[in-house]
Amino acid sequence: MTKIKAIYAEEIFDSRGDPTIEASVELSDGTITKSSVASGSSKEAFEAYELRDNDPNRFKGRGVLKAVTCIAEVIAPALMGVEISNQREIDKLLIALDGTQNKSRLGANSILAVSQATVKAGALVAHLPLPVYIRTLAFSKELNKKIPIPIFNILEGGRYASNNLDIQEFLIIPASSKDFKEALKIGVTVYHALREILVERNLSTLSAEEGGFAPEVSSNQEAFNLIKQTIERAVYQFSYDVFLGIDACAGNFKTNNGYKLIDREIALKTEEMISFYDNFVSEFSLIYIEDPFEKSDKQGWKTLYDAISQKVLIVGDDLTTTNPYRVQSAIDEKIINALVIKLNQIGTVTEAIDVCQKARMNNLKIVVSQRNSECMDGFIADFAVGVEANYVKFGAPARERVIKYNRLLEINREIQTL
Ligand code: PGA
Ligand code: ZN
Repeated sequence: MTKIKAIYAEEIFDSRGDPTIEASVELSDGTITKSSVASGSSKEAFEAYELRDNDPNRFKGRGVLKAVTCIAEVIAPALMGVEISNQREIDKLLIALDGTQNKSRLGANSILAVSQATVKAGALVAHLPLPVYIRTLAFSKELNKKIPIPIFNILEGGRYASNNLDIQEFLIIPASSKDFKEALKIGVTVYHALREILVERNLSTLSAEEGGFAPEVSSNQEAFNLIKQTIERAVYQFSYDVFLGIDACAGNFKTNNGYKLIDREIALKTEEMISFYDNFVSEFSLIYIEDPFEKSDKQGWKTLYDAISQKVLIVGDDLTTTNPYRVQSAIDEKIINALVIKLNQIGTVTEAIDVCQKARMNNLKIVVSQRNSECMDGFIADFAVGVEANYVKFGAPARERVIKYNRLLEINREIQTL
């Protein structure tokens, strides 16, 4: 029996320079683990609640001292003496302590930091690699040894960059036949080739929030052309070695009149957006489209799904927000064939595992994703392998984003010897 002896929390800083929370868990046998949480820029209404101080005199209200206090005064005393090996009980206790539908009392940030730190501690006590331990939390002992396919965000637009691209993320996706090391090499090589081409064209090589470039290219079409040329420059075969995808994050350019693209005078109607995507699918063989429509535009989702889901992943993120009820609706409506999993959209590790199980049972592909504002914790890499995700979406292979890719390399080595 190894029990929780102490839990403490600290306000630390994330990749955007904003405060975030780190929780530490100490066990009766002396084991200590830490975990920190990321933060999204979208914060959809259906996401679990992120508790911030809202004190305008500190970090523009974004401090997390209230969350630190919730851990110190509510969570730590309640979890004291609890057996570490029962993660499902720990998460249930956290949910019950909060007592709200969306974790608005203690904050999903406080709860998730503790949930992740206890999972790490449980793995150490069980003498299991973290992904294998996470696999056991999903009621399965066998771990598939395949590392998920990495999806790289190499060019950014939308609210991530002040250029004239409406699409938030231009993604490259190595072919599924590549092993992880080869897939990572493709991501890194194409990323560097893109920098070279940008330099040659006198375009900015400054990187945006997820480490991708954010040059002033003339249009979405031009961005696709640029990436296609880059892939060929990197000596890969376009649509054979590496494919293209996007996270449109269309909620961000939806207005009352329709979808307002920067280079169009008049906002596009839902049907016009279908042909907008269709053209890119035909010309650039996109295999992945995330959030093509605003979450309530079900007609758009349905029409696109019916038209192209045989060959393209139609992926819910803002639509589904890792919420079991939202995911179930999307399954019932038959509007997605893949979904993004972000741990802090739901707030505990085991709830996120259960959403993955639901997705798998309904033949949806699973994409475990970073958030826009990341922390230095590689936990989601372990989580992705543990839930046997099909893909991971961890940003560009650069800056703080490499922490997750490097952790996948380490896991790749660890699990081969199991
Ligand atoms: P986020 O968005 O900034 O809310 O994490 C990333 C995404 O849309 O995938
Ligand atoms: Zn998204």
